[in-house]
Amino acid sequence: MNSKTITILNLYSNDMNIYGDSGNVLCIKRRLQWSGYEPRVIEYNQGDKFPMDVDIIIGGGGQDSGQEKIKADLIKIGPKLKKLADDGVSILMICGLYQLFGKFFKTSDGEIIEGIGLLDIETFGKSERLIGNIVTHSEQFGDIIGYENHSGQTYLGHKVQVFGRVRIGAGNNTSDISEGARYKNVIGSYMHGSLLPKNPAVADYLIEQAVKRKYNDYIVKGLDNTYAEMARKIAAKRPR
Ligand code: GLN
Repeated sequence: MNSKTITILNLYSNDMNIYGDSGNVLCIKRRLQWSGYEPRVIEYNQGDKFPMDVDIIIGGGGQDSGQEKIKADLIKIGPKLKKLADDGVSILMICGLYQLFGKFFKTSDGEIIEGIGLLDIETFGKSERLIGNIVTHSEQFGDIIGYENHSGQTYLGHKVQVFGRVRIGAGNNTSDISEGARYKNVIGSYMHGSLLPKNPAVADYLIEQAVKRKYNDYIVKGLDNTYAEMARKIAAKRPR
């Protein structure tokens, strides 16, 4: 057994974790184990001491009220998150936290929730919610399959790349076919589901970057994706 440890930080696990987003942490944990690494999970919630010694950071979605709860703390730890992102740490942020990793989320009531500006994106709440199963495509990951439910519509600036192009569903907004955003090894996305168990290529990308950064020795083990493939096929066929 390889005793190389990879530390996963579960960001705001109490308030930002809906539609099964915590499955992303379980998926990373299990695939690390299958690959012979030892996962260590740290939960971070408001007021906790922020640990800088982390390799992968995962955050989920939340109601506007959840975003309200964590916003002040997030602004406080923002510079630390930016430093880690610029240092190449693997980061995945879904929906509510994806929005707040951007510059701001202006809710449909007109309130501005300030973000940390790690991602060059802006989000505007609309009266229409974008809800349903979603399939996007990226050259690197192939089809990416998930579920979306958000009122915020997000627009990308020049400093980020698109995560996927929408084939079924809405994605970032109703005006272009982009979904999610990328910067260094940071991925932001509206896709719940949870995302990673149904998209192992994305999970392994985050793991590979983390392991290479820490140990410079990632070995692809050819993990068994039979169940993931079955889940992908069923989810992709679900009606919107
Ligand atoms: N509250 C945000 C919105 O509705 C995020 C929702 C979510 O995380 N699913 O846009």
